[in-house]
Amino acid sequence: MNGQMTRYQFDDQFDVIVVGGGHAGCEAAWASACMGQRTALISIKKDLIAQMSCNPAIGGIAKGHLVREIDALGGIMGQVIDRIGIHFRLLNRSRGPAVQSPRAQADRTAYRSEMQRRLAQLPNLQIIEGEVVDLIIDKARVIGVELTDHRRLGAKAVVMTTGTFLNGLIHIGRTTFTAGRCGEKASIRLAESIKGFKFRVGRLKTGTPPRLDGRTIDFSATERQPGDDQPVPFSFTTDRIKQPQIDCFIAYTTQKTHEIIRQNIDKSALYSGSIVGIGPRYCPSIEDKVVKFSDKERHQIFLEPEGYYTNEIYPNGLSSSLPADIQLKMLRTIPGLEKVKFIRPAYAIEYDFVDPTELHPWLETKKIQGLFHAGQINGTTGYEEAAAQGIMAGINAALRARGDDPLILPRTQSYIGILIDDLVTKGVDEPYRMFTSRAETRLLLRYDNADARLTEIGYRLGLISSDRYFSFLSKQKRISQLKSFFINQKISPQSPGAELFYHQTAIKLTEPTQIANLIRRPEVSWQHLIQFIPPALREDLSPEELSVVVNDFKYEGYAINQQQLARKIDKADSQPIPPTLDYQSIPGLSREMVEKFTRVLPRTIGQARRIPGVTPAAISLLYLHIQLRSKRDQTKAPR
Ligand code: FAD
Repeated sequence: MNGQMTRYQFDDQFDVIVVGGGHAGCEAAWASACMGQRTALISIKKDLIAQMSCNPAIGGIAKGHLVREIDALGGIMGQVIDRIGIHFRLLNRSRGPAVQSPRAQADRTAYRSEMQRRLAQLPNLQIIEGEVVDLIIDKARVIGVELTDHRRLGAKAVVMTTGTFLNGLIHIGRTTFTAGRCGEKASIRLAESIKGFKFRVGRLKTGTPPRLDGRTIDFSATERQPGDDQPVPFSFTTDRIKQPQIDCFIAYTTQKTHEIIRQNIDKSALYSGSIVGIGPRYCPSIEDKVVKFSDKERHQIFLEPEGYYTNEIYPNGLSSSLPADIQLKMLRTIPGLEKVKFIRPAYAIEYDFVDPTELHPWLETKKIQGLFHAGQINGTTGYEEAAAQGIMAGINAALRARGDDPLILPRTQSYIGILIDDLVTKGVDEPYRMFTSRAETRLLLRYDNADARLTEIGYRLGLISSDRYFSFLSKQKRISQLKSFFINQKISPQSPGAELFYHQTAIKLTEPTQIANLIRRPEVSWQHLIQFIPPALREDLSPEELSVVVNDFKYEGYAINQQQLARKIDKADSQPIPPTLDYQSIPGLSREMVEKFTRVLPRTIGQARRIPGVTPAAISLLYLHIQLRSKRDQTKAPR
């Protein structure tokens, strides 16, 4: 249609229509329907709603934080993975809590069915199988969508979450064909329609590994990787993970693998020049790894089972766009995989994305009122990034339909806020994924305090039930009572428990000491403090609550420093950067950041901050380096 209509006749009318049943679409539809809006979720194949296109896993560093935040707001991803996860691990367990994050392997089929089951229970949600080919616009405002079968559905707001499907083009070696992902057709007409609205559109690419038949793998030649004994759930509503856990395995490429890749590199779609889109730096193909890190003797491959009732194995770390026969040859050089058989080969996919600077900070397009974009269509990569935008787009579409003000989460409150702010202000020049280094104040944005940051908002929006809200309030009350106790209570060398405390921590008390001060010592953990808490206070406390309080005290000082530094940097926009600065000499700056700074050669801190993909952590390092350098220059200057 792509044009103005004067008279509208719709087959059905909704408050909100969500186009696409991927990870963004599911959260958007869930949020809008839970907020009481009559919602339609339209997806090309109903049975593939919530399909995990690539690896069957949720979470990971910073991604796990996003899932906890989605859950704290009242979203659904965390509850689904908790119900069907088959291998849970808390990553970075040995490091500080700000960078710890849960990750879980999913049973791919069960993830889909569990999500579909929960969506089907929402009375306000109608699921429709179909392909949207056009938007119906009236005076720069979206009023509905049109499907291939000519059905027209009206809506006050539309959320587009079409993932990799817009003009999707699959590459396997020199073979290319249009598809949204393996086995599903691309959205060609909708892509053209979007271009017709004069949105700025770019091209990105991503890739996925082959799927292997587990019966043809010799797991005894690989390393076993068990999950955690006590899995940490994603959702604040999950008490514990009840289903059995299964192992993953680790294998390694060999020099022979690398040799085969190098010999056939010209046949890889990535290297033959047939792919124009830019790929995710953080999920490089095996070709990329072998070429870019030629000095590395071997690369790690995680062999991840796809579920309880399947032999399918996902070899994480082996995405490729080599021809299928070369892929198999290369795979068989990996110890344990000498006789491996494919279920299907790896492939790369290129697709259109819409420049996210076309969006307001509440994910509505600036050109068309009522039209929201979320997920991979905005140039991001990953299920969690998609879901985080999905819930915000769903909330804001529902608010738009109700005529209410939009919701914008500040950067200091959540990774979701950081994600959206980065997208709409800087745009993307490569697929965007979340990292903790993207946060100015990451010590405040821990995975364990996401509910304290966001659940109040979820409740006000109608996404959190009263029961859950009251239980959240009780938890916050217990936390605050415990904090007061730790601040007001001192323990002395004679206190009961002081001797045990000494044995556990090697801290010898010489005078009465405030418990809060003791907590700030690195050797003290919540387990050492239980003995000092009066039974009446201890009774209802969970280990998680104790841990939150201890983390709050431990990181308070650092968090304040981080906030002060962030404020200083905010005011240093016009501070010049010496043109001769050698970025490689800045300690701690990643290779990626050195590359970005060296390419742009920013003249001021403000300009450096606006480079797409540059993280606040990198800006802090740059700022501190310049300060130090100028201090050094001042002391050297002749008097
Ligand atoms: P999707 O999950 O792609 O869902 C899009 C949905 O929209 C689908 O249900 C589709 O049927 C529907 N749809 C599309 N067009 C229409 C239409 N016109 N009408 C109705 N419905 C429509 N992420 C990583 O983090 N790391 C990786 O290594 C990685 N590799 C990937 C490799 C491949 C081959 C693919 C395809 C994806 C990969 N991803 C990876 C990305 C990850 O799958 C996505 O980031 C995530 O699924 C995006 O979620 P989404 O909701 O935006 O879109």
